[in-house]
Amino acid sequence: MQKKLIILSAPSGAGKTSIVKRLLQKHAHLSFSISAASREARINEVNGVDYYFLGKAGFEQKISENAFLEWEEVYPGQYYGTLHSEVERLWSEGKTVVFDIDVVGALNLKKQFGNNALALFVKAPSIEVLHQRLRSRNTESEEKIAMRISKAEKESAKATAFDAVVINDNLETAVAETEALIAHFLENES
Ligand code: 5GP
Repeated sequence: MQKKLIILSAPSGAGKTSIVKRLLQKHAHLSFSISAASREARINEVNGVDYYFLGKAGFEQKISENAFLEWEEVYPGQYYGTLHSEVERLWSEGKTVVFDIDVVGALNLKKQFGNNALALFVKAPSIEVLHQRLRSRNTESEEKIAMRISKAEKESAKATAFDAVVINDNLETAVAETEALIAHFLENES
């Protein structure tokens, strides 16, 4: 049985997380790779569900143990990464592993896994819509929002390096489009 990866990547606010949630609800053979993060959990987040919250020292320890398939300083002082153990755990259960990670991490995994990975870039229909979505979350300061918008603009320039781009204007349409891409990928790759 092939070890397959489906990687969804997007600027924050593009709606990638909603698409991932919907896919996981609908398809039992897909399983989410829980990333490790150095930051603290937000109020609504649970350790071992949303992320493995390792703290900075714990994260650095894992780096020194070569425990990561990929890791990155996504924002200054904030580290995120995919643990080998997490992906192996899901593959051993016969699952296709789904990733919700940033653009650099996504392209890193694509490079490592080639045709066994499907890398999808999820895009908001415009920067204005992205702005509105980030504001309406009400979880971040204007400064943090500006940081995320600036990152989004840089990331969008890399969309062409992905296997396909999904525009998330309407969630249902974007989910259907993503499902079709995944079905095609799982049928055709060996
Ligand atoms: P947040 O703090 O909003 O949950 O996530 C911040 C960013 O970290 C998002 O862009 C997310 O895609 C990225 N991210 C989450 N997990 C990983 C990971 O395992 N590796 C990499 N490279 N980026 C990740």
